[in-house]
This record gives sequence, structure tokens and C-alpha cells, in this order.
Amino acid sequence: MADPNGFLKHTRELPAKRPVEIRKTDWQELYEPMPEEKTITQASRCMDCGVPFCHSGCPLGNIIPEFNDAVYEQDWREAFEILSSTNNFPEFTGRICPAPCESACVLGINQPPVAIEFIEKSIAEEAFQRGYARPNPPASRTGKSVAVIGSGPAGLAAAAQLNKAGHTVTVYERNSRIGGLLRYGIPDFKLEKWVIDRRIELMEAEGVKFRTNANVGGNVDAKQLVRENHAVVLAGGSTIPRDIPSQGREAQGIHFAMEFLEQNNKRVAGDDLSDTFEIHARDKDVLVIGGGDTGADCVGTSNRHGARSVTQIEIMPMPPADRDPDSWPNWPMILRTSTSHEEGCEREWAVLTEEFLKDEEGKLRAVRTVNIRWGRDQTGRNTFVKIPGTERELPCQLLLIAAGFLHPQHEGLLNTLGVGLDARKNVAASPEHNYQTSVPKVFAAGDMRRGQSLVVWAIAEGRECARSVDAFLRGGESVLESRDEG
Ligand code: FAD
Repeated sequence: MADPNGFLKHTRELPAKRPVEIRKTDWQELYEPMPEEKTITQASRCMDCGVPFCHSGCPLGNIIPEFNDAVYEQDWREAFEILSSTNNFPEFTGRICPAPCESACVLGINQPPVAIEFIEKSIAEEAFQRGYARPNPPASRTGKSVAVIGSGPAGLAAAAQLNKAGHTVTVYERNSRIGGLLRYGIPDFKLEKWVIDRRIELMEAEGVKFRTNANVGGNVDAKQLVRENHAVVLAGGSTIPRDIPSQGREAQGIHFAMEFLEQNNKRVAGDDLSDTFEIHARDKDVLVIGGGDTGADCVGTSNRHGARSVTQIEIMPMPPADRDPDSWPNWPMILRTSTSHEEGCEREWAVLTEEFLKDEEGKLRAVRTVNIRWGRDQTGRNTFVKIPGTERELPCQLLLIAAGFLHPQHEGLLNTLGVGLDARKNVAASPEHNYQTSVPKVFAAGDMRRGQSLVVWAIAEGRECARSVDAFLRGGESVLESRDEG
């Protein structure tokens, strides 16, 4: 194990962040790299618990004490092999995962937990620098072909695993670049895009084929794809945003968060946007509605645009005293402070949006809100109650709706194939049914199946779905394991 007394000697330390005033002027990642000695010291804090709860805290089941021990021994190759045996893309999760493993770390009971996420990032970066992360194509091919639709983390993980098993895999992506929300949702200050490009190069060298500008159910025939392949994986994400249909919604200056973030990611990537209506926060009072990760990314992006002011409001009040604080909705998500909030933002909770107010030209000028609190309805159920006298007008010229996503798009791909949906209108394909949809040889993984979630869950589902597809193609046991051999 790592130093048995490490946790007694060292406290948790994270890499330095670039100063706010500097990082607000660019799109680069905001954490400095973690120096090697510091990573080793941090890894030494792992207690190698008899029952490592961090394993089960991580949806991928990452074998955390083992890779911490390898880091402590300065065996970066071994650390990378252990980490990548359960996680295809530690360079993504090491940057943007909310790290449920750290919440499960036993040291966290009476000390700050082990800095697992940053250790993971360091292992991945050391592996790329030292040449341990290199193409590992399968020794032989099975002669079976699989089409993966969608190139977000779920599709990429499924593709990587199915290719590893020897199947011929083509990933179809309707956008012009690969990566899904890693590319078009998450801003560069959290994940610079060369990190995705580097991984795609590796996957191409291993034999995975990528087809961009390929909208399956649009310019690519979905039924033909099913006919011509031995299996198909649907990994198209959850893309339909939740709206706020208050009065005045048609005012100019109200946009969904993803319209704003996608355009900005394209601008930062150098795409030609001359034909696109510009959504920019420069010199505006920006109001972000929604307190989660997407809202925080709008805050960070607006500040980098040079917004005059940025305010983020969230409808959810703190949970009532008699309610489990971890119950729906996920309270810690809306209470979490992201690095974007450090860069300048007013935050308020328990604020209900009542009306969008326009000027004579139809442009948004303010939002009328009222504060709310928990109360009871006539049946005794918890409900929101408006607090009289708290009505306000919040001036804003740009309003970004970051109120979550309802379900995947049904038009096109899903309707054409006629796949069954679950009660939440996501694709019905449960793990108990091997990620299989109602359509023979069509499987599903990631946000398209489970609803909006996290990158780590998308990777986990992509891997598990690939095992099911592999078993289906072999007509028996899959050669893929939850933990890869070598
Ligand atoms: P996606 O990443 O959505 O990828 C789906 C892909 O399928 C897209 O590229 C889409 O273009 C393509 N596609 C869809 N239909 C078709 C079709 N018919 N033909 C071809 N291609 C198609 N999670 C975290 O863990 N940490 C974070 O910090 C974080 N930040 C986020 C910030 C934002 C702004 C958003 C919106 C989400 C964030 N998430 C974060 C959530 C995370 O990004 C998603 O859970 C994850 O990307 C889902 O992966 P996926 O592969 O299922 O789908």
C-alpha cells in the first residue's frame, strides 16, 4: 500500500488555479498541472481501506487504492494500466468528473478526502507524455460490424471496447467534430479540445472509423444502417432542453444554454460563424436560470465574454427540514460552487421566474421574479409557496435557460427506427435487458438511455453496453470484462 501513515503526515492539496483576472481573459484550462512530487504525496494519503468504498462510489468501479499505490511507488506505467483497465478516458474524468469517488473516500469522514480526481488526471497526462498511452489494436478481427451513433463519451467508450473485442466499428456523428458534449457543451476552460483530439487519434490508430456530418435518420438512412451492420448502438445523448414557458418568453435575448455554449465552443475552435446569429454576453447584464453544471458553464463563459454583470438563479429552495437532503433533486449539485462562480457571479436560490419583460422593440430588458419557500398543499404534500412582498425586476439583456434536459430528440433517428421509450421518454434499454432496445440488434447507452447525467456514467454505460453487444454477436459470453486484462 501507499505510505501507511501518509494521511497522518500530509493534508489534501490540489493544483494551483490560474489567477481569476488572467484566466478570465482566455479559454485555457484553469488548473496548473500537478507537479509529480505533489501527486506522489497526495497518493500517499490513500489508506488502502479493507473495504474501499471509493470503488463503489465510482460508476466505473475504478480500482483507486491500487493506482494510488503505484503512483506512490512512482510506477506510472502500472498506475496507468490499472486506471485504464476500468476507464477508457481518464484524461476526461480526471478533469471534469464531480468525483463521486471522493465523496465515498473513507478518509473523508474526518479529513478532506484523497485528491483522487487530480491523481487520475496526472496519471493520464504522465502516460501520454511517457508514451505508455499508445494504440493497442486487436490481434484479430471477428468479421462483425457495429455502427455506433453519437460520439459523446458513451459512444466513444462503446466503440473503444467493441473495437478491442475485434469487431469493426464505425462511429457516426452528425456534428462536424467528434466528442458530443465534451466538444460542444463543456467549455475549454474545463476541458481543452486537444485532449479529445489526442484520444480520437489513438482510437483511429486502433482501427475505429469515424464519420462526421452524418446525421443518422437524416442524411444517413437509419434502417439501412441497421440492415448493413451486425449491431447498432444508439448513443445520441439527451438533447431536448427544459423550457421556462413564462409570459414574454418570445422576447429577443432569451436562449437555451446549449445554443450559447455550442456557439461559443465553435467560435473558440475557430469555426466560421458568419452565417449564425451571434449570442454574446459582452457589456450585457446576464441572467442564468438553473443552478447546475450547465448554468455554471454559462457563468464562466459570460464572464470571459466581458458581461457587465452575471446573476444565476435557481428555483429550488434548500430542502425542508423533514426531507432527506440527498433526495430528488440532487441538492448538492445546485449547492456546489464551481470555479466559474469564483470569477464573478451573484447566486440566489428559491427564486421563481414569473415573467420576461420586453422593451418596445421586443428585446428582453428584465425578468420579474418572486422568492419562494417550502410549504404544504391541501393534501399535506411539500410544495412551493410565494413569499409576499419579494417581487422584483432583475434587469437583463441576455437570459440563458439552463434548466436541464427532458429526453433525447425523437424526430429522425428514434422515430424512424421505432424504438420503444420509457416513462421519461428516454430510449427503453435497461441494464437488466442487456441495454437492448425494442428493435432487434439495436442497443442504447448514455444520456439517450438514462437521461441527462455525467461523463463518468456515459463511459460506464458505453462499456457495459459494449459487453452486451459483444455477447450478442458471439452468441454467448463476452470476451470483454468490467476490468480489462492488459
Ligand atoms: P452526448 O455527449 O450528448 O453525445 C451525443 C452525441 O450524439 C452528440 O455528439 C450528438 O451530436 C450525436 N447525435 C445525436 N443524434 C445523432 C444522430 N441521429 N446521428 C448522428 N449523431 C447523433 N458531466 C460531467 O461529468 N462533468 C461536467 O463538468 C459536465 N458538464 C456539462 C456541461 C454542460 C453544458 C452539459 C450540457 C453537460 C455536462 N455534463 C457534465 C454532462 C455530460 O456532458 C453528459 O452526461 C455526457 O456527455 C453524456 O454523454 P453521451 O455520450 O450519452 O451523450
